[in-house]
Amino acid sequence: MKKSTPENPDRNIVNLLAILVDTNPSQRVIRQNPGHLSQILDAIIAFGNAHLMQKAQNKLAVLSCHHHATDFLYPTPGKQLEVRQIDGQYEAFSLVEKTVKQRLSHIICNAPKLNQSAESLLAGSLSMALCYIARVQRNAQAGTKIQSRILVLTGSNECASQYMTYMNVFFTAQKLGVVLDICALDKSLSLLQQGCDITGGQYLRLTQLDGLLQYLLWVFLPDPSMRQKLVLPPPAKVDYRAACFCHRELIDIGYVCSVCLSIFCKFSPICTTCHTVFKVPGPLPSRPKKKKKT
Ligand SMILES: [Zn+2]
Ligand SMILES: [Zn+2]
Repeated sequence: MKKSTPENPDRNIVNLLAILVDTNPSQRVIRQNPGHLSQILDAIIAFGNAHLMQKAQNKLAVLSCHHHATDFLYPTPGKQLEVRQIDGQYEAFSLVEKTVKQRLSHIICNAPKLNQSAESLLAGSLSMALCYIARVQRNAQAGTKIQSRILVLTGSNECASQYMTYMNVFFTAQKLGVVLDICALDKSLSLLQQGCDITGGQYLRLTQLDGLLQYLLWVFLPDPSMRQKLVLPPPAKVDYRAACFCHRELIDIGYVCSVCLSIFCKFSPICTTCHTVFKVPGPLPSRPKKKKKT
């Protein structure tokens, strides 16, 4: 006799992966060899398709973070590209590859020329990825659960000038239940590492691009609930220093505004964020003298 199988609860879970790739030409990896960008791109496309391949319900978004703007490489707003099956490749995979490559070449051709190196707008791009995730979650069908994560691939140095946006993004992601994974391709990134730690994501720093796809598939492809069962790189000690709001440098000890919690490395009588005026710390007030008995 055929037993009725209980409905698979796994079918109602949708895994949404947003990949944020830094395409800023000022990155050291790309400056050294512009061919590295296409190497990174190929790895990302293969990785994104591997994510889609795991489950029919899985969703993918790819964003590019440039020095002047953030753009969606996949999915694109408006009409989708028309893709015909080539060499037996699944159409959805060729659609990802073609859309990403076409959009990126369009962005690179239309980017303003750089005379000096400019920082990447990573914090802004992260906010955009979060907005996209929030929209997908809002529009999800009743009964479907969306598990989202963001993977950032960057060879830029993080800049403490975006400190406030970073912190807002990290705590919003934590509140939305979005896991933040970071793959650093150049220097170690202490601010983004804090974001990984806060949201329960993985941080990986690679010093060369060889085997990039293998690393991505090993560390970042399994979803966060599965990762506990795998042997992954041990978590590094996170540097939880904050950046001062005056010079955007990481500091050990500083002054905190008691009204808006802004951090400063030196005492200033007026908070530059909320304009509260503080008393200059003077000598301790002396006790009022007792009146002499007459
Ligand atoms: Zn300072
Ligand atoms: Zn203040």
